[in-house]
Amino acid sequence: MSKKISRRSFLKGAAAGAATLAAAGMMNATVFADGEAEAVEVPATEANAEGHRDGKYMTKAMGHEDYVYVSTSIFDGVITDCKVVSHKETIGIGNYACARIPKAIVANQSVNVPNLRGCSTTSMAIKVAVMQAIQLAGYELTDFFGAVAEEDVNAEETLDVDVVVVGAGTAGLVAAAKLLDLGKKVLVVEKRGIPGGSMAMTYSGVAAIGAPTLSNYDVDGKSTQPYNLDIDAWIALLNGMIKPEMDHYEGKMPFERVAYAKLGEAAEWFKSIGIGFMTLGSFEGEVTYGTTMYLAPGCYMGGAGYAMMALAQRIEKHPEGEIKYMTKMTELIQDESGKVTGIKAVGVKSNDEENGYKLTVNAKAVLLSSGGFARNADMIAEYYPDYVGKFFNCCSASTGDGIQAGLAAGSAMECIGQYLPGYLSSSTYFELAFIHYSTPGIMVNKSGDSVGNIMSGNHEKMAKCKLDPANGDEFWYVFDENSAPSTKNYLDYGFNTYEAMYNRGEVLHYDTVEAAAEELNLPGLAAAIEANNAAALAGTKDEFGRGNCPYIDVFQGINLIKVDPTFYLTSAGLCADDAGHVLKAPMYEGGEAISGLYGAGDVLGSIEEKDGKQYGMGFDCGMGFGYAVAETIAAEI
Ligand SMILES: Cc1cc2nc3c(=O)[nH]c(=O)nc-3n(C[C@H](O)[C@H](O)[C@H](O)COP(=O)(O)OP(=O)(O)OC[C@H]3O[C@@H](n4cnc5c(N)ncnc54)[C@H](O)[C@@H]3O)c2cc1C
Repeated sequence: MSKKISRRSFLKGAAAGAATLAAAGMMNATVFADGEAEAVEVPATEANAEGHRDGKYMTKAMGHEDYVYVSTSIFDGVITDCKVVSHKETIGIGNYACARIPKAIVANQSVNVPNLRGCSTTSMAIKVAVMQAIQLAGYELTDFFGAVAEEDVNAEETLDVDVVVVGAGTAGLVAAAKLLDLGKKVLVVEKRGIPGGSMAMTYSGVAAIGAPTLSNYDVDGKSTQPYNLDIDAWIALLNGMIKPEMDHYEGKMPFERVAYAKLGEAAEWFKSIGIGFMTLGSFEGEVTYGTTMYLAPGCYMGGAGYAMMALAQRIEKHPEGEIKYMTKMTELIQDESGKVTGIKAVGVKSNDEENGYKLTVNAKAVLLSSGGFARNADMIAEYYPDYVGKFFNCCSASTGDGIQAGLAAGSAMECIGQYLPGYLSSSTYFELAFIHYSTPGIMVNKSGDSVGNIMSGNHEKMAKCKLDPANGDEFWYVFDENSAPSTKNYLDYGFNTYEAMYNRGEVLHYDTVEAAAEELNLPGLAAAIEANNAAALAGTKDEFGRGNCPYIDVFQGINLIKVDPTFYLTSAGLCADDAGHVLKAPMYEGGEAISGLYGAGDVLGSIEEKDGKQYGMGFDCGMGFGYAVAETIAAEI
């Protein structure tokens, strides 16, 4: 027989837990002990003589996205079972922690297990939820807090493969899986505990130019855009975006031509190896996002994460493939002629300390796919001095290791000095990149003044907002109650992730604009809303050139989310040619190739910028170029 603990008891327990954890300096994740707490199953038995209430507890803590619900069973002082029963964490990132951290807690009988490297926030949330359960069961946290040492390996190993791929992110996974298909023996080294790099963070759209699927879908000749069907038409479209002062190839765009031509092929290959896309189309009433191919289950719904996991598993299961996690490339090996013949790597612990494992890989080709350097403060200072001290909401592993190794091997940097794009995050760095679509509204600065047209060129606009000191580095997204339903479930693009803003308590509601303005010290707020509404009612553009301004009806009050336009990647990178050979100087200067060394993805910077166009779609370019470079390597070794 079990009975439910009263809400009062639960809240008391959870609050006490939060206090203890905070005191222990452990509480990186937020403990929510609010009215929405799950009912807590309390044990069959009453508290025993020691005050323990053994049983199975359901607790929750806020993860990276939303609540993570954890079931923990404790009997006779032993955590007998622990599992995450529900979560909305990023597919391809947080779910790895959900699968592993509970098992580690049971195995070690300790919540002091190391965070899974690559998904620390979710790891912490699970641990916090288990700590709540321990306390609710009447045990001391210290009884389940034993130090869990990470293994020292102290072994050396040398491996011989055809290709060693550095980094299991977007470009590396696509390239490695393709190389295996092409009959090569491939080792991927990945410094984190999980694969994926930046891949799972993306929106999941694939500009599959020329893919037979798109032509087949276009049954009436009007169902997709001509530029989606033909690489020449696509390049002509992109050509209009070239900045002449950046262009070295007379508008030919050699890099994107390769990437996008191959991306269409890669999309078909994805389908053939079990990676699905959301159904194409513009349907009656519901999903209306048209003919971009989105990895299933769709835009911002984890499609890129599912695809990423499928690629990683394909490599891991392949008889000739392997991914070595927690293994960090430290240098390239070169022979006397300068040819790259392999890499050196070390095993790392979750805090990046070496664990004593030393790996030498001899390979016919080395593919650098280790991403950009947004999390390397020294490199930001060197290449993007205007961005020093700015937060980059990116993969924490983007520390420029591959770029440093490439430079040491004789390559050089190109595409330095372009502006870096930004996208909107909440103040807790929850991604809100599409909120200007899902949630009709305006964005205001520290004074409550509108920051201007956020619809056109959104990424560039976000970057400029952040860099403009006049905004006071404080921003609010402002919307009415009518925009709340589509914030929670945005049918046009088919995603519902922003609903978490409500669970996270980040949507502030005020009954009047005046109340919001006063409490948040936004003196210009009323005027900003009025000016927007005047343009909306007149059907004209506002003073910033924004058309179709959304009328903000304050009848039911006003909603605000504190937001932060965050940068998220770097677009400068190693010199390379359009086949993916890493060069000593830019291709337009006739740079010589470093034999044996290839690159794909952000390690090369933006290939769009190499073509003379501003950065736009790193995900598509990383996948398409990664696929193309795999073919180059397979043909050359
Ligand atoms: C938050 C966010 C959102 C984005 N959204 C979009 C989007 O919507 N659309 C779009 O087109 N693009 C988007 N991008 C950009 C896109 O994700 C990247 O351009 C692309 O994924 C880069 O792929 P990559 O393979 O070069 O690097 P990554 O995917 O970052 O992978 C690099 C990998 O190398 C590993 N690594 C690094 N150093 C070492 C080392 N020394 N040894 C071993 N392994 C190492 C890393 O751990 C990582 O796994 C987004 C990026 C971010 C950060």
